Amino acid sequence: MSAEIDLATRNLKRRGYLDLDVDPTLDLAEEINRLKKERNAVILAHYYQESEIQDIADYIGDSLGLSQQAASTDADIIVFAGVHFMAETAKMLSPQKKVLLPDLKAGCSLADSCPAPVFAKFKEKYPDHIVVSYINCTAELKTLTDICCTSTNARHVIDSIPLDQPIIFAPDVNLGRWLIKETGRDMVLWNGSCMVHEIFSHEKITKLKIAHPNAALIAHPECEAHILDMADHVGSTSSLLRFTRESPHSEYIVATEPGIIHQMELAAPDKVFYPAPPNNTCACNECPHMKRNTMEKLYLCMKYEMPEITLPEWVIEKGVKSIDRMLEISARAGL
Ligand code: SF4
Repeated sequence: MSAEIDLATRNLKRRGYLDLDVDPTLDLAEEINRLKKERNAVILAHYYQESEIQDIADYIGDSLGLSQQAASTDADIIVFAGVHFMAETAKMLSPQKKVLLPDLKAGCSLADSCPAPVFAKFKEKYPDHIVVSYINCTAELKTLTDICCTSTNARHVIDSIPLDQPIIFAPDVNLGRWLIKETGRDMVLWNGSCMVHEIFSHEKITKLKIAHPNAALIAHPECEAHILDMADHVGSTSSLLRFTRESPHSEYIVATEPGIIHQMELAAPDKVFYPAPPNNTCACNECPHMKRNTMEKLYLCMKYEMPEITLPEWVIEKGVKSIDRMLEISARAGL
């Protein structure tokens, strides 16, 4: 799939699209709102986007919420301010709609860590297992998946599977290990991971906790086990956001992509949030893929209605079943 993205990006460059300069005097928020109305478009943004993109979005959420919105919107165009696999998911759920992604190269290290042809060979070794895949995977991987899940509904998805049915869980090994612990189910795990959530430093977080003894450490289950073990709360981005709103703590150390802190500060302006420090020297734990999207690219993609996400029909037909099953389980669980 990344070869296809490269080709599509080269084509866009050839057509001059990526070289267009945006007039610096334009009020981009105003222009984007105008285009949204003109084109009957909806902007769906992930919590990890830049705050100015979050502020202009029609819906901000995690992967489950974004999928539910993509499935139910009556807009003609879905503009996905997120990464490639999320826009693919929107296309699979609403194939008749035009789905745009501001930067086609906004990929995902986790999705890339599980190439579908390699996974297909791996799956052959476990013919009686069913496959549960975290939604952070390519459309092709979804065609090899029985049920998708997000970090919000993963426990419900695993619990919905009969106890005597063996399971392969892909692609995130850290989420898989956490689910094994939480559900008591023994699963075969694919060894993939997210570059952002694997970078947190146990030592630096410990120092931060000593400096702020009243701060609660909250962590996304894509983090490594040694970070999750020291956390006061583990959960999806929505769950972390809810926890910071509802718990009595006034300070939090946040072990996930720091874009979420914008919503935490809006929801609880009197509380203080510290991004969990990474173990690299540049002290950066932002997702470079999510941050490829900018207001300029959002404006251009709405103006020219490109780059557009397209998928082969067979991929949509086969892959969407795994997402539909996930949405059914979520609806039954009231999520
Ligand atoms: S934060 Fe991790 S899982 Fe999410 S898009 Fe970035 S690389 Fe992928």
